[in-house]
Amino acid sequence: MTIATTNPLTGQVLKTYEPMSDEQLRGAIERADLAYQQLRGTTIEQRGQWLTAAADLMEAERDDIGRLMTTEMGKTYAAAKAEVSKCAAACRFYAARAAEFLADAPADAAAVSATRAFVRYQPIGPVLAVMPWNFPLWQVVRFAAPALMAGNTGLLKHASNVPQTALLLEDVIRRAGFPEGAFTTLLVSSDAVEQILADPRVRAATLTGSEPAGRSIAQIAGRELKKTVLELGGSDPFVVMPSADVELAAEVATTARCQNNGQSCIAAKRFIVHTDVYEAFAEAFAHRMSALRVGDPMDADTDVGPLASERGRDEVDAQVRDAVDKGATVLCGGEKPTGEGWFYPPTVVTDLDQSMRMWAEEVFGPVAGLYRVSSYDEAIEVANGTAFGLGANAWTRDPQEQERFATDLVAGAVFINGMTTSYPELPFGGVKNSGYGRELSAQGMHEFCNVKTVWIGEGTAGVGAGAHAE
Ligand code: NAP
Repeated sequence: MTIATTNPLTGQVLKTYEPMSDEQLRGAIERADLAYQQLRGTTIEQRGQWLTAAADLMEAERDDIGRLMTTEMGKTYAAAKAEVSKCAAACRFYAARAAEFLADAPADAAAVSATRAFVRYQPIGPVLAVMPWNFPLWQVVRFAAPALMAGNTGLLKHASNVPQTALLLEDVIRRAGFPEGAFTTLLVSSDAVEQILADPRVRAATLTGSEPAGRSIAQIAGRELKKTVLELGGSDPFVVMPSADVELAAEVATTARCQNNGQSCIAAKRFIVHTDVYEAFAEAFAHRMSALRVGDPMDADTDVGPLASERGRDEVDAQVRDAVDKGATVLCGGEKPTGEGWFYPPTVVTDLDQSMRMWAEEVFGPVAGLYRVSSYDEAIEVANGTAFGLGANAWTRDPQEQERFATDLVAGAVFINGMTTSYPELPFGGVKNSGYGRELSAQGMHEFCNVKTVWIGEGTAGVGAGAHAE
């Protein structure tokens, strides 16, 4: 894949990059390892100051960073600026909370016949991050902020269509004061991932991306005995029950499906509506979806910009065509526009069945599948009837039903009466084919730490009662 900036609004290639040579790559890994030796010796307070400086730079340069992201992948300028602010907030969060997350965690010393026993969290070394283009700053920062605070260093292989955003983030982190090599953008194709993971200095990898990329990286990492965190695709259910505020649910559903031009892993993609409120919801939802303004992402009144690539747009269109050819009904949208820009209109498709691609696959664009169900059990069956398990939404004002959904939906996150989103305070990740491991919160930081058991005694002969010699 060519490493290049191509404006999705015009299809124009604006800048291309030569991939790094093997020698340059080896040099970058060497510097990441040297920076790790240095970073692990710094205090949390020092790293917090650098990360806070990075947040300051992002905020000061928010408009320019946002414009670059819009140019590289087509999200609206307003959304791009909001993403930069979210990244700055996440940096501040980890700068403020890292000391607490990394503090020694005492254990019951008497139970393990020690005078003192505790868990100590230590960095592990350079971590490879393979990242997608859809939130080109946020996906990287939510890995980099906790990793750097823990004392690890980062090697970023970003998606090939957002090289300038990748280089810009490297520059921000360097200007914030982190040592040379603490965070490096590797301009390489995905073929280079194998070589990077095989390097003994690289200790782990995190991938946010598609299921095939996850399988490939997990396979290589398995062979190399390297830990991975995988944040993969999703086809999140959005269940609407009879007690829901249907108008509000339809409004939030529209945002949940179309934010980021419909290209979000945690976008609600399958709308599963109880028959008692189906007609009311379908009408309100289709009305709101067709009222969205599609256009130039730099315009302040645009709701939905172009998709990031022509290939992505063609794929979405093929999924809709497949459903229509097999008998599905389009309530709004559904036609690929001609002309410049990789646009796709907000679309609602119903009368879906299991023979259709949309039933089982993730649709990465502003296209909603609408399903009618007649009971709670059927709603759960359809909602969980997917290979994915990233987020899940349920709309109900019945407290007992809320409790049941929280337990019964098989997903890494359940949001009741609201859309799935991510917060630095809460763990983020999936189950089933949506991946494993968690980002954000203390859990996200601990994924790339050596969780070290420390046992201190007074010198005993043999193991204590209840212990087992391994
Ligand atoms: P993608 O094709 O998997 O690309 C993501 C990254 O992986 C890119 O850097 C890509 O490099 C690299 N890559 C692709 N194939 C690879 C392979 N075989 N080995 C090593 N690296 C490989 O995904 P995408 O289409 O850009 O992004 C959309 C997908 O990401 C969707 O499925 C979406 O749901 C998922 N996603 C998940 C989350 C989450 O948090 N769970 C968040 C956002 C997106 P190149 O660009 O060079 O190909």
